[in-house]
Amino acid sequence: MVVVGAGIAGIACARVLHGAGVAVRVLDRARAVGGRMASKYLHGRPVDLGAAYFTVRDPEFAEVVGGWRTAGRARPWTDELAVLGGPGRRPAPGPMRWAAPAGLRSLVADLAEGLDVELDHPVAAVGPGPTVDGEPADAVVLAMPDPQALRLVAADSAAGRELVGRRWRPVVAVAAGWERRQWAPLPAGFVNDHPVLSLIADDGDRRGDGAPVLVAHTTARVARAYDAQPDRAVGPAVAAVREVLDIAGPPAWTHAHRWRLASPDADRDTLFHLGADGVGLAGDGWGSARIETAWRSGTALGRAVVARLRAG
Ligand SMILES: Cc1cc2nc3c(=O)[nH]c(=O)nc-3n(C[C@H](O)[C@H](O)[C@H](O)COP(=O)(O)OP(=O)(O)OC[C@H]3O[C@@H](n4cnc5c(N)ncnc54)[C@H](O)[C@@H]3O)c2cc1C
Repeated sequence: MVVVGAGIAGIACARVLHGAGVAVRVLDRARAVGGRMASKYLHGRPVDLGAAYFTVRDPEFAEVVGGWRTAGRARPWTDELAVLGGPGRRPAPGPMRWAAPAGLRSLVADLAEGLDVELDHPVAAVGPGPTVDGEPADAVVLAMPDPQALRLVAADSAAGRELVGRRWRPVVAVAAGWERRQWAPLPAGFVNDHPVLSLIADDGDRRGDGAPVLVAHTTARVARAYDAQPDRAVGPAVAAVREVLDIAGPPAWTHAHRWRLASPDADRDTLFHLGADGVGLAGDGWGSARIETAWRSGTALGRAVVARLRAG
């Protein structure tokens, strides 16, 4: 049994399979697990460059998060973000947003403990059988954004038909570090109707170490404009952050990360696909685009694969 993709969906799926005694290999082309729950070491500490935080609604996911909380891996961060960019800041109360002191990637690494994960392992093709790059497998799960999965399967396969035609939005995440804090306390804020920014998060606040580091997410329009050279989005993004938060001085350092497939344009109302051909699909494209959705999708698909293997 092979799972392609070591983001939270693929790792959650593999956890279920492993727990049911199914031998499972997880393959990922990246050098680390986590996918879009990406934390990169910049200037001596992890900075979350992908997902900004996560929310918890599902009781089973709440149990997992409870374990992380007890172990000090995750912490409730804030239930009040701000709306920025207009006249003054307006509070935006909402569900509790959770963060990870060691970065969101560390949570996926924790879930992956004890699993057989092969990193630096790009998969090129999933064929009938199913096969993974020509090797037969009992079943294959593709846990990744639709356009990435569509590169691996035939467009006229059952999985291909599920994947075709869905658009995903890009984001450039720009991290910026200052010598000292120069902005009014802020967990994070949505920047609505702004030409450059969609969100600004205080990475020191969510991490809990108080580091003077902000991460801004651009609009999809700006990410498309700078697709070929995401570093060039840093100038407009930092200028916009300084204007919105009234920051006098320039940052000491910056870093840009391009996400071509940050989130799907539209939600689905099913949690996963499992075809009669043994090819399954999971991820945050199955439901609404959130970490919790990805975990639920991978978990539910894992259970369906276990049931299929036991039945047949
Ligand atoms: C900028 C940004 C902000 C976000 N903000 C939030 C937020 O605030 N709250 C929230 O809940 N969610 C947020 N999200 C969404 C959240 O990150 C995702 O819902 C979740 O991480 C998706 O997990 P996944 O396992 O489905 O996919 P991914 O994390 O994308 O994992 C897919 C994995 O598949 C691997 N892969 C792809 N192709 C291949 C191949 N051919 N061979 C081998 N491996 C392959 C990739 O390397 C990757 O590791 C945000 C995402 C981004 C990018």
